[in-house]
Amino acid sequence: MKQNYVAWGRVKNCMRELTAYGNARKAEIGADKVFDFSLGSPSAPVPETVWEAMRRALERPDVHEPTPPEGLPALRKAVAEDLNRRYGTGLSTEDILIVTGAAGGLAICCQTLLQPGDEAVVLAPYFTEYRVFIEGAGGTAVEVPPLPDMQPDLDALAAAVTEKTRFVLVNTPNNPSGAILPEESLRRIAEILRAAGERFGRPVYLVSDEPYRELVYDTERIPCVMNAFENTIPCYSFSKSLSLPGERIGYLALSPAAGDRDALLAGLSAAARALGYRSAPSLMQHALVDCVGMTADLSLYRENRDLLYSSLSAMGYDCVRPEGAFYLFVKSPIDDAKAFSDAAKKYELLLVPSDDFGITGWLRLAYCVPTDTIRRALPAFRALAEEYALR
Ligand code: PLP
Repeated sequence: MKQNYVAWGRVKNCMRELTAYGNARKAEIGADKVFDFSLGSPSAPVPETVWEAMRRALERPDVHEPTPPEGLPALRKAVAEDLNRRYGTGLSTEDILIVTGAAGGLAICCQTLLQPGDEAVVLAPYFTEYRVFIEGAGGTAVEVPPLPDMQPDLDALAAAVTEKTRFVLVNTPNNPSGAILPEESLRRIAEILRAAGERFGRPVYLVSDEPYRELVYDTERIPCVMNAFENTIPCYSFSKSLSLPGERIGYLALSPAAGDRDALLAGLSAAARALGYRSAPSLMQHALVDCVGMTADLSLYRENRDLLYSSLSAMGYDCVRPEGAFYLFVKSPIDDAKAFSDAAKKYELLLVPSDDFGITGWLRLAYCVPTDTIRRALPAFRALAEEYALR
């Protein structure tokens, strides 16, 4: 059944409400007085090489021409070569589709893989918009609650996969918990989905949302999801790694070994057309041909992770130590995380309650802010900790 977008658009969303509140508060008392940890908008500067590539692209006579729907061949080739170099994936140009950011890629996957009545399994905690993409495609999101350390409960995942399941959606490093999926979990997920595929006589796919792939702090790189399971559709975005969230550029990849590969590729292109994407922004496609594999200076996020995690833990907050992405997940000291988020506002702290992420009782702090904001916010966190007698 088609989604009623008018009714749906009226549904309240904690994050959007908090951002609106924060903007009003900043206008009232000054932006520097509000400690806004609500939005995952990167603050590392865009690399100069990317600026130069954008300037060069602007000189091209064809810069305003739409590219082929699957993307500029030169960019698709550069992406395939970069993935092959880093992960030994064996991809070629035809295996890459350039899309309008991870959101565009995920929406296209959902439209392609789901028919009304179908299910997609999502692992809580998960990015708020997953429900939007899945339900927008007429599907149902089946939630699997996490283990206490925020790693997926793989027995529960196995039980959640049924005849109706078209794909499982994973996100590593994770928004909002910062957790990374270890190699052994990927192996087990692959076993579960291979067995389900054999039972149902069709592939059950793994959609791997990876916009934070380069934001890792304790290891060099995340285990490659695509290498663990042939029926993986990695969904990547340049939003976070190059600090380009407004430019709407990313890609999908598909292994040559994926089940029903050609039909799936045709479906993904058709879904992009049906959603009206036509093709990803030309300027960015031309510019990024020479920038694939590059990142902004991401060291800021490691510094912020260390400062925020150690300071809040010392104050008595119960935090998940983030291994990647730029979010700190903090246990609410009271059951109602929304009420705790409201209490934090008294100290001008904007913390997102976890209800939008498919789990209750937690708060997400986006630490992609200038380090100085964290330093200046620490007395406010301390006062809030004292109010709730955390120590
Ligand atoms: N997936 C996750 C987990 C995200 O956190 C985000 C953005 O914050 C997206 C997807 C969407 O990324 P994009 O801006 O590239 O559409």
